[in-house]
Amino acid sequence: MIKKIEHFIGGALFTGTSGRDSMVFNPATGTESANVSLADANDVNTAVAAAKTAFPAWSETTPLNRARILFKFKELVEANQGKLAEMITAEHGKVLNDAAGEVTRGLEVVEFACGIPHLLKGEHSVNVGRGVDSWSEMQPLGVVAGITPFNFPVMVPMWMFPIAIACGNTFILKPSEKDPSPAIFIAELLKQAGLPDGVFNVVHGDKEAVDALLSHNSVEAVSFVGSTPIAQYIYARASENGKRVQALGGAKNHMLIMPDADMDQAVDALMGAAYGSAGERCMAISVVVCVGDEAADTLLKKLKPRVENLKVKPGTDIDAEMGPLVSKQHLDKVKSYIDLGIEEGATLIVDGRDFIHEGPEAGYFLGGCLFDQVTESMRIYKEEIFGPVLCIVRVEKFNDGCRLINNHEYGNGTTIFTRDGDSARQFTHSIQVGMVGVNVPIPVPMAFHSFGGWKRSLFGPLHVHGPDGVRFNTRMKTMTARWPAGIRQGSDFAMPTMK
Ligand code: NAD
Repeated sequence: MIKKIEHFIGGALFTGTSGRDSMVFNPATGTESANVSLADANDVNTAVAAAKTAFPAWSETTPLNRARILFKFKELVEANQGKLAEMITAEHGKVLNDAAGEVTRGLEVVEFACGIPHLLKGEHSVNVGRGVDSWSEMQPLGVVAGITPFNFPVMVPMWMFPIAIACGNTFILKPSEKDPSPAIFIAELLKQAGLPDGVFNVVHGDKEAVDALLSHNSVEAVSFVGSTPIAQYIYARASENGKRVQALGGAKNHMLIMPDADMDQAVDALMGAAYGSAGERCMAISVVVCVGDEAADTLLKKLKPRVENLKVKPGTDIDAEMGPLVSKQHLDKVKSYIDLGIEEGATLIVDGRDFIHEGPEAGYFLGGCLFDQVTESMRIYKEEIFGPVLCIVRVEKFNDGCRLINNHEYGNGTTIFTRDGDSARQFTHSIQVGMVGVNVPIPVPMAFHSFGGWKRSLFGPLHVHGPDGVRFNTRMKTMTARWPAGIRQGSDFAMPTMK
């Protein structure tokens, strides 16, 4: 019998009443592996009610005791890292060591959140007036929700919930319906770590569940990560309903290669950054901007054989470098972009469309693809493809490359490969992108910094995790107090000022 994946509400699995569900596939075989319940507004109401009930006690639990539960959770995730990685590979398709790396990057946010007693210390000023002290404290918001994409079913939820619950909020996760299993395992581990029932809940679902969360009066804040059109919708809808919102969207990340760069190092870096996780990463490099034809020709000569020889296999194969794409629909979409690139006049150097995985079943495999002579006006340059497709754009000068990057509608990540300090400094300082690397292919900030793009890669003022994560999940209250010790102040009808 096919596995049934249910919601997790109030500390227990919950079937839901919607009667709706959706199929979950193993992308390496193309076969159905499970069936996931899809929540309706009633199911969402049940989850919000559980989170609301848990809030008063949880928000009054001391930050140190909240941190202790997260410490225990961290140990449990470490002990189960292999199992979590297998779950990710089975539903997402990425290779096992990449899946394990995703868990590690998520755990770093848990480690950061364990420092919550320090992070919530607030501010204090003595004698803001004679005998008057003032202080600020950061208080939790209440019930907060996280809506996450398919491409990091563990790491992206962990960008959100560890800090949210460490701050004293209760949390509802709506993971992607394409790879829902890890979310339930996380809920079980949190319970095992001692998290009270109702503090962390999972509702599976699609637009119906998301809309119910966006319009629920008791949801105070929404963190979203996914594609730009949905991020924009979430931002508008949740803000309209008076919620605090951060909505991270899509990307087109450029690597600018200067003629003085170490080309072997750049090629090594590019292979992982463009083709790792089959290009299904919001920080994947999808465009290489080469300064000068000589640099582009050298790069191409070294890159082409590496792309042709990528080991494309099921993620469970020990030597696999790249697994399948997540779904048949996504595979077809990515293939259609290859057709489009040819129509638009780009030169297809490596064609992954005919790649056939020699196995008993047909998964959603695509070989690595490489385009040269891509220009700014082409749709394959402008749009996010989210697959193993790398575009080379040739420019004459450093400034042309920067202009190109600055003009792009997305501003998630970018990087420069160079040995010249002047260009690197100018690049990091002036480029209009939220996360920038120098000779680092995927400049994903560590958990104690915040993660977020610029332009149409992020809607809302605050990034996720790090200091912004704490700001997003708390609201500040500022107190001003006088202990007059019997001295009468009299009435003053003017605006109070410090005399
Ligand atoms: P998606 O936008 O299709 O889905 C994201 C979430 O929104 C899922 O939980 C999904 O169920 C829900 N959703 C989908 N359609 C909806 C609708 N019409 N109304 C309400 N909710 C809806 O994204 P995806 O395909 O799961 O993930 C890939 C995208 O996520 C890429 O664009 C990628 O760049 C982006 N992403 C961005 C970041 C970042 O940090 N900026 C990180 C990871 C992924």
